[in-house]
Amino acid sequence: MDKTATAKLASYERRYRQLAAQLASIGYIAAGSVAQRHNRCGKAYCGCHAEPPRLHGPYWQWTAKVGGKTVNKRLTEREARLYLEWIANDRKARSLLGQMRAVAAEAMALILAGDDPGSLAQSPDPSANPGAPPHLKAPRAASQPP
Ligand SMILES: [Zn+2]
Repeated sequence: MDKTATAKLASYERRYRQLAAQLASIGYIAAGSVAQRHNRCGKAYCGCHAEPPRLHGPYWQWTAKVGGKTVNKRLTEREARLYLEWIANDRKARSLLGQMRAVAAEAMALILAGDDPGSLAQSPDPSANPGAPPHLKAPRAASQPP
């Protein structure tokens, strides 16, 4: 592998570690979505059956696919706030994973391009990799309650 490729690979490696560190500091993740819903009740003379209807709510509702089945759950205001945060974390985690995959693909292409049988002896020693950077602790603000 020539010097340009080695430098490129090192920068991919740095970028990859940065993304992995961001991924490691993410809070809880949740699937699905949260929406506000309005309902009708069972009382025939209630305003929710009038014309035009004055529906009950809004209620917060979480919807997700669990094991192939759609699950709905009524949420309190507090639960809805938490779910919205966890769902946003989930989206961020998937975005970071996608970026990691893209950087990895670039690095892998470089590695494979330099990987002819004659150059195997020059492959980098995996044990020489210092591994994850030391600053993996979550930012302080993230562990404080809102
Ligand atoms: Zn009603």
